[in-house]
Amino acid sequence: MKFNTKTIHGGQQHDPATGAVMPPVYQTSTFAQSSPGVHKGYEYSRAANPTRTALENALASIENGTKGLAFSSGLAATDAVMKLLKPGDEVVAMDDLYGGTYRMFTKVYTEYGIKFHFVDMNNEDKFRAALNENTKLVWVETPTNPLMKLADIEAIAKITKEKKILFAVDNTFATPYLQKPLDLGADIVMHSATKYLGGHSDVIAGALVVKDDNLFEKLHFAQFATGGTLGPNDSYLVLRGIKTLHLRMERHCFNGQKVAEYLEKHPKVKQVYYPGLKSHPFFDIAKKQMEGGFGGMVSFSFKSGAKADAVSFLEKVKVFTLAESLGGVESLANHPATMTHASIPEAKRLESGITDDLVRLSVGVEDIDDLIADIEQALG
Ligand SMILES: *Cc1c(COP(=O)(O)O)cnc(C)c1O
Repeated sequence: MKFNTKTIHGGQQHDPATGAVMPPVYQTSTFAQSSPGVHKGYEYSRAANPTRTALENALASIENGTKGLAFSSGLAATDAVMKLLKPGDEVVAMDDLYGGTYRMFTKVYTEYGIKFHFVDMNNEDKFRAALNENTKLVWVETPTNPLMKLADIEAIAKITKEKKILFAVDNTFATPYLQKPLDLGADIVMHSATKYLGGHSDVIAGALVVKDDNLFEKLHFAQFATGGTLGPNDSYLVLRGIKTLHLRMERHCFNGQKVAEYLEKHPKVKQVYYPGLKSHPFFDIAKKQMEGGFGGMVSFSFKSGAKADAVSFLEKVKVFTLAESLGGVESLANHPATMTHASIPEAKRLESGITDDLVRLSVGVEDIDDLIADIEQALG
């Protein structure tokens, strides 16, 4: 089955009881048993719920994995991966991560005796130097938020395989429409399904997909034992979102590319961060591992370097909404320094390039002419 068919049918079956084409929302916490321990595969919805199962099967299908898990948020999904670790274990993570992931690693799991190294994944010597016999996990986000840095998944997987280290990729920005980390050698794919998979800014959800049954059992145990599962209504919403993922992504990519190209020519703009621009430092990696486009996320900075210019732009946009989050059908604009990335200490934030004049756009699926006109007036 091709990807554009998998989004609609992958892992799905009509409801066996009624033939319902869409899976019913099984709004139930528990399931009747005919004799103690005799049931139809469902006992209690923290362990499994049929609507969540339908979503988990779809997730596995679109990421070319064998098993999926749906969580109450992206961070709950990441948290389940962290539960595979023990005190003394070490994690090597990319030096540009979603703020909430960075906060979990440094503020929560450091306290539990896990050591984190944040390194430039594109420097093989530095990456190899950060690995040692305690390294149990490599964590990468590509493209990253908000600077659109890329990591070469295939190159990293070669090293993690050789050293038998688990390799997880946060695939939130690219989605499996553009990039399939499991095919490129990663062990775990993580998603904030709140973003493109859900696609309509109406649900908080997370996902993990793997292709190894043993690893699945461990992650499922972590989910079941600590409880960060996704409810049936929210499972339904994400599943419905996935059915149009390919259609939305096609337009996100088209609009994202146009917006990036427009901004690159604008006299007030200093730098545009978009993997689909030839000027992007990681354009070659993008072409190698992303297929069919480069997504809808675009960041840019101002020639003036002034925070006031970023703020003025964000106050003036009309079609774009000034809000956190991304990946929905509607266009959003965000100021990483004060909004999504405020949890990163200022010195660290500036060092990684998240300056006060940086604006991040989640380019939606509206008409491109309206989006460009809005940017033009807001920059004017
Ligand atoms: C939003 C986001 C997360 C966290 O997901 P939640 O659903 O908000 O918990 C993790 N990684 C990336 C890249 C994100 O954009």
